[in-house]
Amino acid sequence: MLDLDKRSIMYLPGVGPKKAEILQKEAGIASYEDLLYYFPYKYIDRSRFYKVAEITGDMPYIQLKGRILFFDTLGEGRARRLVGKFTDGTGTIDLIWFKGLNYVTEKIKPGVDYIVFGKPTEFGHIYTIAHPDMDSVDQADKVANGLTPFYSTTEKMKKSFLNSRAIQNLQYTLLNSLNWTLPETLPEYLLARIQMMPFAEAIRNVHFPESVEKLRKAQLRLKFDELFFIQLNMLRSATLRKRKLRGIVFASVGDCFNTFYKDYLPFELTNAQKRVVREIRTDMGSGRQMNRLLQGDVGSGKTLVALLAMLLAIDNHCQACIMAPTEILAAQHYATIKGFLKDMPVQVALLTGSTKKKERNRILPAIANGEIQIVVGTHALIEDSVNFASLGLAIIDEQHRFGVEQRSRLWTKNVTVPHVLVMTATPIPRTLAMTLYGDLDVSVIDELPPGRKPVLTVHRYDNKKAQLYDFLRKEIRLGRQVYVVYPLIEGSEKLDYKNLEEGFETFQSVFPEYKVCMIHGRMKPAEKEAEMQKFVSGEAQILMATTVIEVGVNVPNASVMVIESAERFGLSQLHQLRGRVGRGAEQSYCVLVSSYKLSNETRKRLEIMVNSNNGFEIAEADLRLRGHGDLEGTRQSGEGIDLKIANLAADGQILQYARDMAQEVLNEDPDLLSEANRILNERLKILFSRKINWGMIS
Ligand code: ADP
Ligand code: MG
Repeated sequence: MLDLDKRSIMYLPGVGPKKAEILQKEAGIASYEDLLYYFPYKYIDRSRFYKVAEITGDMPYIQLKGRILFFDTLGEGRARRLVGKFTDGTGTIDLIWFKGLNYVTEKIKPGVDYIVFGKPTEFGHIYTIAHPDMDSVDQADKVANGLTPFYSTTEKMKKSFLNSRAIQNLQYTLLNSLNWTLPETLPEYLLARIQMMPFAEAIRNVHFPESVEKLRKAQLRLKFDELFFIQLNMLRSATLRKRKLRGIVFASVGDCFNTFYKDYLPFELTNAQKRVVREIRTDMGSGRQMNRLLQGDVGSGKTLVALLAMLLAIDNHCQACIMAPTEILAAQHYATIKGFLKDMPVQVALLTGSTKKKERNRILPAIANGEIQIVVGTHALIEDSVNFASLGLAIIDEQHRFGVEQRSRLWTKNVTVPHVLVMTATPIPRTLAMTLYGDLDVSVIDELPPGRKPVLTVHRYDNKKAQLYDFLRKEIRLGRQVYVVYPLIEGSEKLDYKNLEEGFETFQSVFPEYKVCMIHGRMKPAEKEAEMQKFVSGEAQILMATTVIEVGVNVPNASVMVIESAERFGLSQLHQLRGRVGRGAEQSYCVLVSSYKLSNETRKRLEIMVNSNNGFEIAEADLRLRGHGDLEGTRQSGEGIDLKIANLAADGQILQYARDMAQEVLNEDPDLLSEANRILNERLKILFSRKINWGMIS
């Protein structure tokens, strides 16, 4: 074996300790293998130059040759930007930088010819390229032979002479020292089956493409590899777990469930709810531990399904808990569940970070001795001081807010691992679900309770506020309530809070006759609770908030959701927010307020919101527009998957194929023990030994 993963990059000729440190820190390249897997993010066909006059909307990355006429610095504070007027004689476009302004003006001189590379976007009637790559013309001439790979590099790397070209040189040195050969990663029988390019040839062509066609084949092979091993790992641990982990058997449907179902259920379950309850029942009665993901659009009625599952646990002499990401949401679940159960003899407790000491002292022993049957809470539930007599079912609501580690701690709360039900309203596109949660069983509530009118969504510019206020006043006069939400984005909190507070003052002066309340993340839980209560009780007509209300809040009388700076939210987040209204019988509205200046992409995203009420459709569109790395719900909790070459938005078919192949391999040889599969086993060890075993956690 070559053990490329164990050979430090430091020893590659041309690297040394200083550069090695930078490569490791900035690009995560520690070993020879890491370098080989550091793939170019784009290729320029140096044989083709476009003309400014040829640019149209929706072009991919293109190459232009010309000069900057002059620079202009526009805007202030966060909006400060450098604009270079660029021309090649056939027309002009704007090159824009938002960062590193000084660096650019030092490096790039007006009046000198450059090769410009980037993706043009249309802004009004002008095309712009943001943060273009700029190369001097003679530098470009040296490499002007066909496809040139580009590797992403950081400022720090560039300062240490590790630019894209240098990385390519390192690839050359390494591959040359290996005589341009590498051991195959797949067994021969599989390679013959899939009919793809051998691994060594693929690595060679991805770094030094011989032709466009070979590059495509190389990329296909490497994408397949990447996705295949993820799926193989996931499917294998799922099989192992199913074999090993026995679950508590919930054999019977008893009094609790039946009484509730017959006498207390306030409405008929939807068919989707019935189906999901059946799936959960079968799973929990099967003798193996349940690990199920319950997806259902906002308002689809997941809470009731959760309650029914918990009653089943109680019927089988077990306790159940439900964990929510915020105190407001936990309190609301508690109230909802108490409301559903009415006078049924089921003991329910609420446990959060702000539960008073006296109350804690009452609750904790009662959880430990089994008196309390259902515990609703926040992550306070997973503290060491919380011990259950017999926890049989753990439900996690809005799962993306919890880290994997927090979830895994629930497991240790019982001798036999409890059944786990993870509920999410963020519809996860199929390809992403397959990659992130490929080992979970999935249930979907794909139907809303009857009688809901779809929310009417409109897009308005923020210079038309007066009309918006008139509309809100009309709705409030009809007895309705209004949410107004402001973005809160990491890195710009200060300004965001200021916007909210200014908005609050404006609304108070525009609506002196009504009560306006406000909630944001900097308030103490008790304050938040008090403000929320004003809105829930109907005392306040307008609730202004940052995204804290995003998850779960249920006020059926609220009929209008106004989202300020809507262009700054992700699509799934907008959809979540919109789900806060439309819960009562009246027609509800969602108003997306944005500035007038929008990029084409943003305009498209808002259009999708206006045209679609379907969470899955929106999530798929989001994935296509933004790429999986940005998809909400994955990055927030640090669960984003680090793919080096495959792209979940574009490579869904390859993913499905890789999964099918992995399943076939495992069907033949579940433990990968055959001689032919030994290389798969070894490869899995290298790839996944350092990482947490996702499959075992949830
Ligand atoms: P989510 O899936 O977003 O958590 P909830 O569980 O909060 O949705 O349910 C949304 C609303 O729909 C609640 O007011 C709930 O009482 C109501 N609801 C749930 N199931 C039904 C049903 N089968 N018929 C009518 N209303 C229902
Ligand atoms: Mg909910």
